[in-house]
Amino acid sequence: MSIPTTMAARLRKAARVILVGPPGCGKGTQTTRVLNRYPQLTALSSGDLLRQNVRAGTPIGLEAESIMKNGGLVHDSLMVKLIVGELSRRGYLESKPTHAAGLISASPSSASSPSNSSDLPSASFLLDGFPRTQGQAKKLDEEVSMNLVVNIDVPSEVIIQRISNRLVHTPSGRIYNLTWNPPKVPGIDDVTGEPLTRRSDDFPETFKKRLEAYRKETEPLLEHYDKAGVLWTVKGRTSDEITPLLEGEIKKRFG
Ligand code: ATP
Ligand code: MG
Repeated sequence: MSIPTTMAARLRKAARVILVGPPGCGKGTQTTRVLNRYPQLTALSSGDLLRQNVRAGTPIGLEAESIMKNGGLVHDSLMVKLIVGELSRRGYLESKPTHAAGLISASPSSASSPSNSSDLPSASFLLDGFPRTQGQAKKLDEEVSMNLVVNIDVPSEVIIQRISNRLVHTPSGRIYNLTWNPPKVPGIDDVTGEPLTRRSDDFPETFKKRLEAYRKETEPLLEHYDKAGVLWTVKGRTSDEITPLLEGEIKKRFG
């Protein structure tokens, strides 16, 4: 199945989107498609960023590698440093006065947050895979108010079947599925011609742990964002079913 053909569309307001969903639900695939559709959006994938650090052998990569291999979650403090640092470097967080730690903890606990983000469409971004714990969500709330949290709801049996068919191009994060979205040449990335690999954490035992971590640590975040009035749930069995719904919702809210 090929990626649905897309025509670029414009955003009128800043979209600050989080994709939430179990491992293998297609966050990465949706990210690629939504970015094609809305060129003003840029994406930050915590998993891709971590894998790049592992490949490059950075201190962050060295710390994260074994945790990722085992299907666990990387520590909140490290993740927050990585993602908030990257958002700030890319200019998505307007500079604000450095605040004392005490001031932060005195701020309201809910998702009501500082308005230190621009409303210009060019300040739009999408987070894939972050936040994943209550601690991460709280830190993100302190930095920027996200205005759409997408819950990608795919049945577990579909996910498990899909993971055993997944291949990735690690440098770009591009994802292929042998059934739904195969590369043009078997084992080769369509864009660069480089080889595709399997993610070491996609093997069944590790995958089970990732699924458990999702249910325990990440699913509770949905309630947090629901209370904040920004949660939207999309259900589907395939990425092709979900893409038009997701793009339609972005259009409705920000187009
Ligand atoms: P998929 O890519 O199929 O959606 P996933 O969301 O579980 O699955 P990634 O987001 O690529 O996979 O993450 C891979 C691994 O990186 C996780 O299992 C975890 O160890 C680590 N990781 C990624 N994001 C975070 C995060 N926000 N907090 C803690 N660990 C993370
Ligand atoms: Mg991913």
